[in-house]
Amino acid sequence: MRRRRVPFHTIELAVTTSVKNPEPIAHDFAWARERMVQEQLIARGIADPRVIVAVRKIPRHVFVDPGIVNRAYDDSALPIGDKQTLSQPYMSARMSEGLRLVGGEKVLEIGTGSGFQTALLAELCFNVFSVEKIRALSRRARALLDQLDYHNIALHVGDGTIGWSEHAPYHAIIVTAGAPMAPQPLLDQLAVGGRLVIPIGDEQGQTLMRLTRTRNGFKKESLGECKFVKLLGKYGWRE
Ligand code: SAH
Repeated sequence: MRRRRVPFHTIELAVTTSVKNPEPIAHDFAWARERMVQEQLIARGIADPRVIVAVRKIPRHVFVDPGIVNRAYDDSALPIGDKQTLSQPYMSARMSEGLRLVGGEKVLEIGTGSGFQTALLAELCFNVFSVEKIRALSRRARALLDQLDYHNIALHVGDGTIGWSEHAPYHAIIVTAGAPMAPQPLLDQLAVGGRLVIPIGDEQGQTLMRLTRTRNGFKKESLGECKFVKLLGKYGWRE
């Protein structure tokens, strides 16, 4: 455990300024990732061990632009092009935890974006179906997820506010963009006992909500405040 005594900023410096080796090496990313897990997730209350194991495993830095690779494990959302963002690590973990996955589920994600959250879900459930409205983002995510050897992810380009009815019902649905209200098709595509985790609010901010389908309605819980880009579409914000 001698390595733990190396102050973290030394490593960060090595990542950003190594001249001989301009590509940051995997070892540095592993350190940055572990620090992120400790300081941003565990210290703030992420407790589901499966979520923690999954975040530890996924190389978040491959999902960001090469130009900002050194910020991949920062405590913030990051641009992924087309005015969209890769969510802050804490938020991805919080949403994943909120879905209460145990491993055998079929999950629908709306807003593939970079594909980072998709990879996280693929580690936590049986099958992931993910819809993205911007084709270029979906293509890029497909390439990355193939490279990482995920075989339990299906991607689709289209308006995710109408869901993906062919594979319904889902045990869990996650929406990674802010909505004015829960889209009715997503509620309809949720199995009884299933959970929908979705940020609901306006452009200034949203409340992360968990809606659990019961035999005769939906149980609503708040999981805290958040700020996401807009969910645009038929049952979201108007474009
Ligand atoms: N989970 C992603 C977050 C991406 S930001 C990540 O971690 O990288 C939200 C994404 O939702 C954007 O890529 C945006 O294009 C997408 N989006 C917005 N409205 C959508 C809709 N109606 N259907 C599908 N995707 C949508």
